[in-house]
Amino acid sequence: MKPHPPRLYLSSPHMGGREQDFVKEAFDTNWVAPLGPNVDGFERDLQEYTGSAHAAALSSGTAAIHLSLILLGVKPGDHVICQSLTFSASANPIAYQGAIPVFIDSEPDTWNMCPDALKQALKELTAKGKKPKAIIPVHLYGMPARMEEIMQLAGQYEVPIVEDAAEALGSEIKGRRCGSFGKLGVLSFNGNKIITTSGGGALLSADEALIQKARFLATQARDPAPHYQHSQIGYNYRMSNVLAGIGRGQMLVLQDRLAQRRSNFEFYHDLIGGIAGVEFLMEPEGFFSNRWLTTLLVDPQKTGGITPETIRLAFEKENIESRPLWKPMHLQPVFENHPYFGGRVAETLFKKGLCLPSGSNMTEQERERIRLVLKNLFGLK
Ligand SMILES: *Cc1c(COP(=O)(O)O)cnc(C)c1O
Repeated sequence: MKPHPPRLYLSSPHMGGREQDFVKEAFDTNWVAPLGPNVDGFERDLQEYTGSAHAAALSSGTAAIHLSLILLGVKPGDHVICQSLTFSASANPIAYQGAIPVFIDSEPDTWNMCPDALKQALKELTAKGKKPKAIIPVHLYGMPARMEEIMQLAGQYEVPIVEDAAEALGSEIKGRRCGSFGKLGVLSFNGNKIITTSGGGALLSADEALIQKARFLATQARDPAPHYQHSQIGYNYRMSNVLAGIGRGQMLVLQDRLAQRRSNFEFYHDLIGGIAGVEFLMEPEGFFSNRWLTTLLVDPQKTGGITPETIRLAFEKENIESRPLWKPMHLQPVFENHPYFGGRVAETLFKKGLCLPSGSNMTEQERERIRLVLKNLFGLK
């Protein structure tokens, strides 16, 4: 029996080397708490990098979305517009608030929120007196959404944007970094993201008052008094100073990680980009993707019957992880019978798509394992 090769993951943590210095400093100075110099330093790093004037480091990206909705006054029964093709964490905080998610289809060039379907939703909801409290577009797999069109509509209807940039740190539109477009921007540092703090997130904004309020709510909403006094419901959503140390170390290698992820995309594109029925997500003019995950679409009518699932199973046999795209939220049992605007773009992407191993720590040997699977499958020389 041939020895089983080690598991090759879709996207695994990739430390740069300096993380432990910052973590050690936290221990040496006993800042082992949800505040301290690493939290402040990490927030400064994020502000500088994204071009957002203010940042709050939080316990997760999900917490950042939840706080955004609270800051925007989302209450039970309110409507909140959300991209359908996304990870459930984009939509779940809408339900935490007892609000109603309204899902929007994707458009084929970025796979993100379709401006036409968004326009339809804004028009219909507003006409019924149910003007939404927020719009949550997502930059899926690092590809920026069509923010220019989305912001134009949001401005016209005066609905604030919560920009879910959890997968898109380092991505840009015309030189402007993702996370800095919305009234509020959300980042995630979960273990599988382009940089990680093991778990963590951040909230970004140009509005200092919003970020100050986010910090207040994230630390149990304690009023200024010597005793513990509360006039609002608070949360325990701040980032630990130990984990922020990992974040500071990761920020030092973010540009390398970006280059490595983008080189993964080139690797796949060079290898199978020319095959009939295999299609990659290309960057529209002016768009720059961090290529967090390389994804492809497979049309079995043109590949001679090879489906995304055929590819996934072939990889799995070699202990290589690949994964279908996010299943659209409007097709999820938990969000059954929720309002939806659009056609079948997201649904079709889900049927035809696959996420490929995309770690920035992928070795040449690991690429060789991948190359072999794809060569055999597509009968390449
Ligand atoms: C990862 C992710 C989140 C949530 O971030 P966590 O830090 O895991 O809570 C939200 N939205 C999208 C699109 C994500 O990929």
